[in-house]
Amino acid sequence: MADWDAIIIGGGISGLSAAAFLQAAGQRVLVLEARPTAGGNLQTTAEGGRLIDHAANGWLDNEPAVGRLLALLELQPTGASDRYTTRWIFAGGQLHPAPLSPPALLRSGLMTLGQKLRLLGDLVIPRGASALAAPTADETVGAFVRRRLGRGALHALVAPMVAGIFAADPDTLSLRGAFPRMFELERDHRSLLLAMLRLRRGGAPAGKLQTTAAGAGGLSAAIAARLGDQLRTDSPARGLRREDNLWHVDFDAGPERARAVLIAAPAPSAAALCAPLDPALGAALSAFSYAPAAVVVTAWAQGSFPTPPRGFGALVGRGDNTADPATCGVLGTVYTSEIFPDQARPDEQLLRSIVGGGIAPEAAALDDQALLGRVVAHLSACHGAPTQPPRWVKVLRHPLGIPRVGAGHLDRVAAVEVALRPHSGLHILGNYLYGVGVKDCVRAGEAAAAAALRTPPAAARQNHA
Ligand SMILES: Cc1cc2nc3c(=O)[nH]c(=O)nc-3n(C[C@H](O)[C@H](O)[C@H](O)COP(=O)(O)OP(=O)(O)OC[C@H]3O[C@@H](n4cnc5c(N)ncnc54)[C@H](O)[C@@H]3O)c2cc1C
Repeated sequence: MADWDAIIIGGGISGLSAAAFLQAAGQRVLVLEARPTAGGNLQTTAEGGRLIDHAANGWLDNEPAVGRLLALLELQPTGASDRYTTRWIFAGGQLHPAPLSPPALLRSGLMTLGQKLRLLGDLVIPRGASALAAPTADETVGAFVRRRLGRGALHALVAPMVAGIFAADPDTLSLRGAFPRMFELERDHRSLLLAMLRLRRGGAPAGKLQTTAAGAGGLSAAIAARLGDQLRTDSPARGLRREDNLWHVDFDAGPERARAVLIAAPAPSAAALCAPLDPALGAALSAFSYAPAAVVVTAWAQGSFPTPPRGFGALVGRGDNTADPATCGVLGTVYTSEIFPDQARPDEQLLRSIVGGGIAPEAAALDDQALLGRVVAHLSACHGAPTQPPRWVKVLRHPLGIPRVGAGHLDRVAAVEVALRPHSGLHILGNYLYGVGVKDCVRAGEAAAAAALRTPPAAARQNHA
Protein backbone atom coordinates (compact mmCIF):
# COMPACT_ATOMS: atom_id res chain seq x y z
CA MET A 1 0.00 0.00 0.00
CA ALA A 2 1.56 3.31 -1.17
CA ASP A 3 1.21 6.24 1.20
CA TRP A 4 -0.18 9.54 -0.01
CA ASP A 5 0.79 13.01 1.08
CA ALA A 6 -2.91 13.84 1.38
CA ILE A 7 -6.25 12.11 0.97
CA ILE A 8 -9.15 14.42 0.19
CA ILE A 9 -12.64 13.22 1.05
CA GLY A 10 -15.26 14.90 -1.15
CA GLY A 11 -14.79 15.89 -4.78
CA GLY A 12 -16.87 19.08 -4.85
CA ILE A 13 -15.11 22.31 -5.74
CA SER A 14 -13.79 22.71 -2.17
CA GLY A 15 -12.00 19.35 -2.23
CA LEU A 16 -11.00 19.57 -5.89
CA SER A 17 -9.43 23.02 -5.39
CA ALA A 18 -7.44 21.78 -2.42
CA ALA A 19 -6.31 18.81 -4.52
CA ALA A 20 -5.27 21.04 -7.43
CA PHE A 21 -3.21 23.34 -5.21
CA LEU A 22 -1.57 20.39 -3.44
CA GLN A 23 -0.82 18.66 -6.73
CA ALA A 24 0.72 21.87 -8.06
CA ALA A 25 2.95 21.91 -4.96
CA GLY A 26 4.27 18.47 -5.91
CA GLN A 27 2.16 16.49 -3.44
CA ARG A 28 0.78 13.02 -4.10
CA VAL A 29 -2.96 13.36 -3.52
CA LEU A 30 -5.88 10.97 -3.65
CA VAL A 31 -9.45 12.31 -3.93
CA LEU A 32 -12.37 10.11 -2.86
CA GLU A 33 -15.77 11.12 -4.22
CA ALA A 34 -18.96 9.32 -3.20
CA ARG A 35 -20.91 9.94 -6.41
CA PRO A 36 -20.24 8.67 -9.95
CA THR A 37 -19.00 12.11 -11.05
CA ALA A 38 -16.88 14.69 -9.26
CA GLY A 39 -17.89 18.34 -8.94
CA GLY A 40 -20.64 18.22 -6.30
CA ASN A 41 -22.72 21.37 -6.79
CA LEU A 42 -20.39 22.55 -9.56
CA GLN A 43 -21.27 20.29 -12.47
CA THR A 44 -22.52 20.92 -15.98
CA THR A 45 -23.97 18.57 -18.56
CA ALA A 46 -24.50 19.18 -22.26
CA GLU A 47 -28.08 18.30 -23.25
CA GLY A 48 -29.52 18.77 -26.74
CA GLY A 49 -27.38 21.78 -27.64
CA ARG A 50 -27.73 23.37 -24.20
CA LEU A 51 -25.25 23.56 -21.33
CA ILE A 52 -27.01 22.85 -18.06
CA ASP A 53 -25.34 23.89 -14.82
CA HIS A 54 -26.71 21.65 -12.08
CA ALA A 55 -26.44 24.26 -9.29
CA ALA A 56 -23.89 27.10 -9.44
CA ASN A 57 -23.76 28.86 -12.80
CA GLY A 58 -20.44 30.59 -12.23
CA TRP A 59 -18.35 32.59 -9.81
CA LEU A 60 -17.35 36.21 -9.40
CA ASP A 61 -13.97 37.14 -10.87
CA ASN A 62 -12.77 39.12 -7.84
CA GLU A 63 -11.22 36.31 -5.79
CA PRO A 64 -7.44 36.01 -6.30
CA ALA A 65 -7.45 32.31 -5.33
CA VAL A 66 -9.75 31.59 -8.30
CA GLY A 67 -7.33 33.46 -10.56
CA ARG A 68 -4.46 31.33 -9.26
CA LEU A 69 -6.48 28.13 -9.74
CA LEU A 70 -7.44 29.05 -13.32
CA ALA A 71 -3.80 29.90 -14.05
CA LEU A 72 -2.43 26.61 -12.78
CA LEU A 73 -5.11 24.75 -14.76
CA GLU A 74 -4.34 26.92 -17.82
CA LEU A 75 -8.11 27.39 -18.09
CA GLN A 76 -9.46 30.48 -19.79
CA PRO A 77 -12.69 31.71 -18.14
CA THR A 78 -15.62 33.14 -20.08
CA GLY A 79 -17.25 36.33 -18.77
CA ALA A 80 -20.98 36.96 -18.65
CA SER A 81 -22.26 38.92 -21.63
CA ASP A 82 -22.70 42.60 -20.88
CA ARG A 83 -25.43 42.92 -23.48
CA TYR A 84 -28.17 43.04 -20.88
CA THR A 85 -27.07 43.69 -17.32
CA THR A 86 -30.26 44.85 -15.64
CA ARG A 87 -31.13 42.86 -12.55
CA TRP A 88 -34.85 42.90 -11.83
CA ILE A 89 -36.80 42.67 -8.61
CA PHE A 90 -40.36 41.35 -8.84
CA ALA A 91 -42.39 43.14 -6.17
CA GLY A 92 -46.01 44.19 -5.88
CA GLY A 93 -46.95 42.38 -9.08
CA GLN A 94 -44.35 43.95 -11.39
CA LEU A 95 -40.68 43.97 -12.32
CA HIS A 96 -38.52 46.88 -11.12
CA PRO A 97 -34.87 47.44 -12.08
CA ALA A 98 -32.75 46.73 -8.98
CA PRO A 99 -31.40 50.12 -7.86
CA LEU A 100 -27.66 49.51 -7.63
CA SER A 101 -26.35 53.03 -6.95
CA PRO A 102 -27.36 55.71 -4.42
CA PRO A 103 -29.07 57.89 -7.12
CA ALA A 104 -30.91 54.85 -8.54
CA LEU A 105 -32.02 53.99 -5.02
CA LEU A 106 -33.55 57.42 -4.61
CA ARG A 107 -35.33 57.20 -7.99
CA SER A 108 -36.56 53.63 -7.52
CA GLY A 109 -40.27 52.82 -7.40
CA LEU A 110 -39.50 50.02 -4.96
CA MET A 111 -39.62 52.36 -1.94
CA THR A 112 -41.93 55.12 -0.73
CA LEU A 113 -40.62 58.65 -0.20
CA GLY A 114 -40.62 58.08 3.56
CA GLN A 115 -38.58 54.90 3.15
CA LYS A 116 -36.08 56.75 0.93
CA LEU A 117 -35.69 59.50 3.50
CA ARG A 118 -35.17 56.86 6.18
CA LEU A 119 -32.48 55.27 4.00
CA LEU A 120 -30.60 58.58 3.94
CA GLY A 121 -30.53 58.37 7.74
CA ASP A 122 -27.60 55.99 7.19
CA LEU A 123 -25.46 59.07 6.49
CA VAL A 124 -25.77 60.25 10.10
CA ILE A 125 -26.51 57.12 12.14
CA PRO A 126 -23.59 56.13 14.41
CA ARG A 127 -21.93 52.73 14.31
CA GLY A 128 -23.93 49.96 15.95
CA ALA A 129 -22.92 47.95 18.99
CA SER A 130 -21.72 44.99 16.95
CA ALA A 131 -19.22 47.13 14.99
CA LEU A 132 -17.76 48.40 18.25
CA ALA A 133 -17.97 45.24 20.34
CA ALA A 134 -16.04 42.02 20.86
CA PRO A 135 -14.65 40.17 17.82
CA THR A 136 -17.45 37.60 17.89
CA ALA A 137 -20.35 40.06 18.40
CA ASP A 138 -22.96 39.48 15.73
CA GLU A 139 -26.49 40.41 14.68
CA THR A 140 -28.78 39.22 11.89
CA VAL A 141 -28.56 40.74 8.42
CA GLY A 142 -32.18 41.85 8.89
CA ALA A 143 -31.48 43.67 12.15
CA PHE A 144 -28.40 45.33 10.65
CA VAL A 145 -30.21 46.61 7.54
CA ARG A 146 -33.26 47.78 9.52
CA ARG A 147 -30.93 49.66 11.87
CA ARG A 148 -28.87 51.35 9.16
CA LEU A 149 -31.19 51.67 6.13
CA GLY A 150 -34.69 51.06 7.47
CA ARG A 151 -37.43 48.51 6.87
CA GLY A 152 -38.19 49.71 3.36
CA ALA A 153 -34.68 49.03 2.05
CA LEU A 154 -34.63 45.68 3.82
CA HIS A 155 -37.91 44.60 2.29
CA ALA A 156 -37.57 45.97 -1.22
CA LEU A 157 -33.89 45.71 -1.93
CA VAL A 158 -31.73 43.73 0.45
CA ALA A 159 -34.05 40.77 1.09
CA PRO A 160 -34.33 39.76 -2.59
CA MET A 161 -30.56 40.15 -3.13
CA VAL A 162 -29.90 38.05 -0.04
CA ALA A 163 -32.35 35.41 -1.27
CA GLY A 164 -30.41 35.33 -4.55
CA ILE A 165 -27.28 34.26 -2.70
CA PHE A 166 -28.39 32.36 0.41
CA ALA A 167 -31.99 31.48 -0.49
CA ALA A 168 -32.76 32.66 3.03
CA ASP A 169 -34.58 35.46 4.80
CA PRO A 170 -32.25 38.20 6.17
CA ASP A 171 -33.73 37.75 9.66
CA THR A 172 -32.35 34.19 9.74
CA LEU A 173 -28.81 35.07 8.61
CA SER A 174 -25.76 35.97 10.66
CA LEU A 175 -24.31 39.28 9.41
CA ARG A 176 -20.70 38.30 10.04
CA GLY A 177 -21.16 34.75 8.82
CA ALA A 178 -23.01 35.64 5.62
CA PHE A 179 -21.84 39.17 4.77
CA PRO A 180 -18.62 39.91 6.63
CA ARG A 181 -17.96 42.73 4.12
CA MET A 182 -21.12 44.61 5.22
CA PHE A 183 -19.95 44.37 8.82
CA GLU A 184 -16.51 45.70 7.79
CA LEU A 185 -18.03 48.59 5.82
CA GLU A 186 -19.85 49.82 8.93
CA ARG A 187 -16.82 49.25 11.12
CA ASP A 188 -14.46 51.06 8.71
CA HIS A 189 -16.71 53.75 7.14
CA ARG A 190 -19.66 53.96 9.56
CA SER A 191 -22.16 54.80 6.78
CA LEU A 192 -22.87 52.23 4.04
CA LEU A 193 -23.88 54.96 1.56
CA LEU A 194 -20.67 56.89 2.19
CA ALA A 195 -18.71 53.67 1.80
CA MET A 196 -20.43 53.02 -1.56
CA LEU A 197 -19.48 56.51 -2.74
CA ARG A 198 -15.92 56.33 -1.40
CA LEU A 199 -15.32 52.93 -2.94
CA ARG A 200 -16.92 54.21 -6.16
CA ARG A 201 -19.29 51.38 -6.60
CA GLY A 202 -22.95 50.85 -6.06
CA GLY A 203 -24.73 47.91 -4.52
CA ALA A 204 -24.02 45.64 -7.50
CA PRO A 205 -22.02 42.56 -6.65
CA ALA A 206 -18.31 43.39 -6.78
CA GLY A 207 -16.81 41.48 -9.66
CA LYS A 208 -18.20 39.95 -12.79
CA LEU A 209 -19.75 36.54 -13.24
CA GLN A 210 -17.45 34.01 -14.92
CA THR A 211 -17.84 30.50 -16.21
CA THR A 212 -15.92 28.31 -18.68
CA ALA A 213 -16.69 27.34 -22.27
CA ALA A 214 -18.01 24.05 -20.85
CA GLY A 215 -20.19 25.77 -18.26
CA ALA A 216 -19.41 26.35 -14.58
CA GLY A 217 -18.76 22.63 -14.12
CA GLY A 218 -15.88 23.00 -16.59
CA LEU A 219 -13.80 24.14 -13.61
CA SER A 220 -14.44 20.90 -11.70
CA ALA A 221 -13.97 18.85 -14.85
CA ALA A 222 -10.58 20.49 -15.56
CA ILE A 223 -9.32 19.58 -12.08
CA ALA A 224 -10.75 16.06 -12.35
CA ALA A 225 -8.95 15.58 -15.69
CA ARG A 226 -5.63 16.60 -14.12
CA LEU A 227 -6.12 14.22 -11.23
CA GLY A 228 -6.72 11.25 -13.54
CA ASP A 229 -6.68 8.04 -11.50
CA GLN A 230 -5.85 10.02 -8.37
CA LEU A 231 -9.59 10.78 -8.33
CA ARG A 232 -11.73 7.79 -7.36
CA THR A 233 -15.43 8.28 -7.97
CA ASP A 234 -18.13 5.96 -6.56
CA SER A 235 -15.85 5.80 -3.52
CA PRO A 236 -17.48 7.13 -0.37
CA ALA A 237 -15.11 7.31 2.58
CA ARG A 238 -16.54 5.07 5.29
CA GLY A 239 -14.13 5.52 8.17
CA LEU A 240 -11.15 7.45 9.42
CA ARG A 241 -8.46 6.21 11.82
CA ARG A 242 -5.17 7.49 13.14
CA GLU A 243 -2.57 4.71 13.41
CA ASP A 244 1.23 4.78 13.35
CA ASN A 245 1.13 8.56 13.00
CA LEU A 246 -0.66 8.26 9.67
CA TRP A 247 -4.29 8.80 8.73
CA HIS A 248 -6.06 5.68 7.43
CA VAL A 249 -9.16 6.21 5.31
CA ASP A 250 -11.50 3.26 4.83
CA PHE A 251 -13.53 2.94 1.64
CA ASP A 252 -14.81 0.02 -0.40
CA ALA A 253 -11.51 -0.50 -2.26
CA GLY A 254 -9.38 0.81 0.65
CA PRO A 255 -7.95 1.50 3.09
CA GLU A 256 -5.42 4.08 1.97
CA ARG A 257 -3.20 6.10 4.27
CA ALA A 258 -1.73 9.57 4.21
CA ARG A 259 0.14 12.17 6.21
CA ALA A 260 -2.83 14.56 5.95
CA VAL A 261 -6.56 14.16 5.41
CA LEU A 262 -8.82 16.95 4.16
CA ILE A 263 -12.54 16.38 4.67
CA ALA A 264 -14.43 18.42 2.07
CA ALA A 265 -17.70 16.47 2.22
CA PRO A 266 -20.89 18.14 3.53
CA ALA A 267 -21.24 18.49 7.30
CA PRO A 268 -23.37 15.34 7.90
CA SER A 269 -20.77 13.15 6.15
CA ALA A 270 -17.91 14.92 7.91
CA ALA A 271 -19.67 14.44 11.25
CA ALA A 272 -20.26 10.73 10.61
CA LEU A 273 -16.57 10.24 9.75
CA CYS A 274 -15.25 12.23 12.70
CA ALA A 275 -17.64 11.20 15.52
CA PRO A 276 -16.02 7.77 16.18
CA LEU A 277 -12.60 9.44 16.21
CA ASP A 278 -13.55 12.33 18.46
CA PRO A 279 -17.13 12.78 19.72
CA ALA A 280 -16.56 16.51 20.38
CA LEU A 281 -15.50 17.07 16.77
CA GLY A 282 -18.43 15.01 15.54
CA ALA A 283 -20.82 17.07 17.69
CA ALA A 284 -19.31 20.35 16.45
CA LEU A 285 -19.86 19.24 12.84
CA SER A 286 -23.39 18.02 13.54
CA ALA A 287 -24.41 21.58 14.44
CA PHE A 288 -24.52 22.68 10.77
CA SER A 289 -27.66 22.40 8.68
CA TYR A 290 -28.75 23.05 5.10
CA ALA A 291 -31.84 24.18 3.19
CA PRO A 292 -32.92 22.21 0.11
CA ALA A 293 -33.16 23.88 -3.29
CA ALA A 294 -34.50 22.83 -6.67
CA VAL A 295 -33.32 24.26 -9.97
CA VAL A 296 -35.97 24.22 -12.71
CA VAL A 297 -34.47 24.83 -16.15
CA THR A 298 -36.92 25.71 -18.90
CA ALA A 299 -36.21 26.28 -22.60
CA TRP A 300 -38.73 28.39 -24.53
CA ALA A 301 -39.08 29.10 -28.22
CA GLN A 302 -38.08 32.71 -28.90
CA GLY A 303 -41.13 34.96 -28.71
CA SER A 304 -43.03 32.79 -26.23
CA PHE A 305 -43.44 35.64 -23.73
CA PRO A 306 -45.29 38.90 -24.45
CA THR A 307 -42.48 40.76 -22.58
CA PRO A 308 -39.33 38.77 -23.29
CA PRO A 309 -36.93 38.21 -20.37
CA ARG A 310 -34.11 40.72 -20.96
CA GLY A 311 -31.31 41.27 -18.49
CA PHE A 312 -29.47 39.22 -15.92
CA GLY A 313 -32.47 37.79 -14.14
CA ALA A 314 -35.27 38.54 -11.72
CA LEU A 315 -35.32 38.07 -7.95
CA VAL A 316 -38.65 37.86 -6.17
CA GLY A 317 -39.22 40.37 -3.37
CA ARG A 318 -39.66 39.50 0.28
CA GLY A 319 -43.15 38.23 0.93
CA ASP A 320 -43.89 38.14 -2.82
CA ASN A 321 -42.01 34.80 -2.89
CA THR A 322 -44.47 33.13 -0.52
CA ALA A 323 -47.71 35.16 -0.71
CA ASP A 324 -49.31 33.59 -3.80
CA PRO A 325 -49.92 29.82 -3.57
CA ALA A 326 -49.47 29.59 -7.36
CA THR A 327 -45.86 30.83 -7.22
CA CYS A 328 -44.97 30.12 -3.58
CA GLY A 329 -41.31 29.21 -3.12
CA VAL A 330 -39.97 30.54 -6.45
CA LEU A 331 -37.08 32.77 -5.39
CA GLY A 332 -35.97 34.02 -8.77
CA THR A 333 -34.91 33.25 -12.31
CA VAL A 334 -31.59 33.65 -14.09
CA TYR A 335 -31.87 34.46 -17.82
CA THR A 336 -29.13 32.06 -18.92
CA SER A 337 -29.51 32.70 -22.64
CA GLU A 338 -28.99 36.42 -22.00
CA ILE A 339 -25.89 36.19 -19.84
CA PHE A 340 -24.28 33.13 -21.42
CA PRO A 341 -25.70 33.01 -24.98
CA ASP A 342 -23.37 30.16 -25.95
CA GLN A 343 -25.08 27.90 -23.40
CA ALA A 344 -28.45 28.08 -25.18
CA ARG A 345 -29.74 27.16 -28.62
CA PRO A 346 -30.04 30.26 -30.80
CA ASP A 347 -33.77 29.82 -31.29
CA GLU A 348 -34.50 29.48 -27.56
CA GLN A 349 -34.58 31.37 -24.30
CA LEU A 350 -33.03 29.29 -21.57
CA LEU A 351 -34.12 30.18 -18.02
CA ARG A 352 -33.10 28.79 -14.61
CA SER A 353 -35.50 29.27 -11.73
CA ILE A 354 -34.55 28.50 -8.13
CA VAL A 355 -37.22 27.14 -5.79
CA GLY A 356 -37.21 26.49 -2.05
CA GLY A 357 -34.18 27.36 0.05
CA GLY A 358 -34.59 28.39 3.68
CA ILE A 359 -37.50 30.63 2.65
CA ALA A 360 -39.77 27.82 1.43
CA PRO A 361 -38.00 24.49 2.00
CA GLU A 362 -41.20 22.50 1.47
CA ALA A 363 -41.50 23.87 -2.09
CA ALA A 364 -38.16 22.27 -3.06
CA ALA A 365 -39.71 18.86 -2.36
CA LEU A 366 -42.68 19.27 -4.72
CA ASP A 367 -42.90 16.81 -7.60
CA ASP A 368 -41.60 17.88 -11.00
CA GLN A 369 -45.02 18.81 -12.38
CA ALA A 370 -45.91 20.97 -9.38
CA LEU A 371 -42.49 22.68 -9.48
CA LEU A 372 -42.92 23.45 -13.16
CA GLY A 373 -46.43 24.81 -12.51
CA ARG A 374 -45.07 27.28 -9.93
CA VAL A 375 -42.22 28.35 -12.19
CA VAL A 376 -44.51 28.91 -15.19
CA ALA A 377 -46.89 30.93 -12.98
CA HIS A 378 -43.94 33.04 -11.76
CA LEU A 379 -42.64 33.61 -15.31
CA SER A 380 -46.15 34.54 -16.43
CA ALA A 381 -46.41 37.09 -13.63
CA CYS A 382 -43.08 38.61 -14.69
CA HIS A 383 -43.32 38.41 -18.49
CA GLY A 384 -46.97 37.73 -19.36
CA ALA A 385 -48.62 34.38 -20.06
CA PRO A 386 -46.51 32.36 -22.51
CA THR A 387 -48.09 31.58 -25.87
CA GLN A 388 -46.84 27.99 -25.74
CA PRO A 389 -45.48 25.55 -23.15
CA PRO A 390 -41.71 25.21 -22.63
CA ARG A 391 -39.99 23.06 -25.23
CA TRP A 392 -37.79 21.39 -22.72
CA VAL A 393 -37.67 21.14 -18.91
CA LYS A 394 -35.13 19.79 -16.46
CA VAL A 395 -35.44 19.66 -12.68
CA LEU A 396 -32.29 19.34 -10.58
CA ARG A 397 -32.65 18.70 -6.87
CA HIS A 398 -30.18 19.63 -4.14
CA PRO A 399 -31.29 18.30 -0.75
CA LEU A 400 -28.16 19.73 0.91
CA GLY A 401 -28.40 22.82 -1.31
CA ILE A 402 -27.51 25.89 0.69
CA PRO A 403 -25.87 25.87 4.12
CA ARG A 404 -27.88 27.79 6.70
CA VAL A 405 -25.63 30.59 7.97
CA GLY A 406 -27.79 31.44 10.95
CA ALA A 407 -27.24 33.08 14.32
CA GLY A 408 -24.16 31.71 16.08
CA HIS A 409 -22.47 30.70 12.81
CA LEU A 410 -19.05 32.05 13.78
CA ASP A 411 -19.25 30.22 17.11
CA ARG A 412 -20.06 26.97 15.31
CA VAL A 413 -17.08 27.43 12.96
CA ALA A 414 -14.83 28.24 15.93
CA ALA A 415 -16.03 25.08 17.72
CA VAL A 416 -14.91 22.94 14.77
CA GLU A 417 -11.54 24.69 14.65
CA VAL A 418 -11.00 24.19 18.40
CA ALA A 419 -12.03 20.52 18.22
CA LEU A 420 -9.60 19.99 15.31
CA ARG A 421 -6.57 21.25 17.23
CA PRO A 422 -5.50 17.90 18.75
CA HIS A 423 -5.67 16.20 15.33
CA SER A 424 -2.47 17.04 13.52
CA GLY A 425 -2.85 16.65 9.76
CA LEU A 426 -6.67 16.61 9.79
CA HIS A 427 -8.32 19.54 7.97
CA ILE A 428 -11.98 20.29 7.37
CA LEU A 429 -13.39 22.61 4.73
CA GLY A 430 -16.52 23.09 2.68
CA ASN A 431 -19.19 25.64 1.86
CA TYR A 432 -20.86 25.32 5.27
CA LEU A 433 -17.76 26.66 7.03
CA TYR A 434 -16.03 29.37 5.02
CA GLY A 435 -18.58 30.75 2.54
CA VAL A 436 -21.12 29.31 0.12
CA GLY A 437 -19.88 30.88 -3.12
CA VAL A 438 -17.73 28.88 -5.49
CA LYS A 439 -15.00 31.49 -5.04
CA ASP A 440 -15.19 31.08 -1.24
CA CYS A 441 -14.80 27.31 -1.66
CA VAL A 442 -11.73 27.79 -3.88
CA ARG A 443 -10.22 30.22 -1.36
CA ALA A 444 -10.86 27.70 1.44
CA GLY A 445 -9.41 24.93 -0.73
CA GLU A 446 -6.21 26.90 -1.24
CA ALA A 447 -5.99 27.68 2.49
CA ALA A 448 -6.56 24.03 3.46
CA ALA A 449 -3.90 22.94 0.96
CA ALA A 450 -1.44 25.40 2.51
CA ALA A 451 -2.28 24.09 5.99
CA ALA A 452 -1.83 20.49 4.84
CA LEU A 453 1.57 21.38 3.41
CA ARG A 454 2.57 22.51 6.89
CA THR A 455 1.81 19.07 8.40
CA PRO A 456 5.12 17.92 9.89
CA PRO A 457 6.43 15.08 7.71
CA ALA A 458 9.17 13.83 10.03
CA ALA A 459 7.00 12.32 12.75
CA ALA A 460 4.88 10.49 10.23
CA ARG A 461 7.75 8.92 8.30
CA GLN A 462 9.77 8.10 11.40
CA ASN A 463 6.91 6.17 13.02
CA HIS A 464 5.77 4.56 9.84
CA ALA A 465 9.11 2.93 9.14
C1 LIG B 1 -29.08 25.72 -6.56
C2 LIG B 1 -27.74 26.30 -6.23
C3 LIG B 1 -27.26 27.37 -6.96
C4 LIG B 1 -26.01 27.90 -6.64
N1 LIG B 1 -25.54 28.96 -7.39
C5 LIG B 1 -24.31 29.44 -7.14
C6 LIG B 1 -23.75 30.44 -7.99
O1 LIG B 1 -24.35 30.81 -8.99
N2 LIG B 1 -22.52 30.92 -7.69
C7 LIG B 1 -21.80 30.46 -6.62
O2 LIG B 1 -20.69 30.95 -6.39
N3 LIG B 1 -22.29 29.49 -5.81
C8 LIG B 1 -23.52 28.96 -6.06
N4 LIG B 1 -24.01 27.95 -5.28
C9 LIG B 1 -23.20 27.45 -4.16
C10 LIG B 1 -22.05 26.54 -4.61
O3 LIG B 1 -22.41 25.80 -5.75
C11 LIG B 1 -21.68 25.53 -3.51
O4 LIG B 1 -21.59 26.17 -2.26
C12 LIG B 1 -20.35 24.83 -3.80
O5 LIG B 1 -20.35 24.27 -5.09
C13 LIG B 1 -20.14 23.75 -2.73
O6 LIG B 1 -18.93 23.09 -2.94
P1 LIG B 1 -18.37 22.06 -1.86
O7 LIG B 1 -17.24 21.34 -2.49
O8 LIG B 1 -18.09 22.77 -0.57
O9 LIG B 1 -19.57 21.06 -1.54
P2 LIG B 1 -20.31 20.03 -2.51
O10 LIG B 1 -20.46 20.58 -3.86
O11 LIG B 1 -21.54 19.62 -1.76
O12 LIG B 1 -19.31 18.79 -2.61
C14 LIG B 1 -19.14 17.85 -1.58
C15 LIG B 1 -18.85 16.51 -2.22
O13 LIG B 1 -18.58 15.54 -1.19
C16 LIG B 1 -19.10 14.31 -1.63
N5 LIG B 1 -19.23 13.40 -0.47
C17 LIG B 1 -20.18 13.38 0.48
N6 LIG B 1 -19.92 12.42 1.39
C18 LIG B 1 -18.78 11.81 0.99
C19 LIG B 1 -17.99 10.73 1.50
N7 LIG B 1 -18.31 10.08 2.64
N8 LIG B 1 -16.88 10.34 0.82
C20 LIG B 1 -16.52 10.97 -0.33
N9 LIG B 1 -17.24 12.00 -0.86
C21 LIG B 1 -18.34 12.43 -0.19
C22 LIG B 1 -20.40 14.67 -2.30
O14 LIG B 1 -20.85 13.64 -3.16
C23 LIG B 1 -20.01 15.96 -3.03
O15 LIG B 1 -19.59 15.71 -4.36
C24 LIG B 1 -25.24 27.37 -5.59
C25 LIG B 1 -25.73 26.26 -4.87
C26 LIG B 1 -26.96 25.72 -5.19
C27 LIG B 1 -27.46 24.52 -4.45
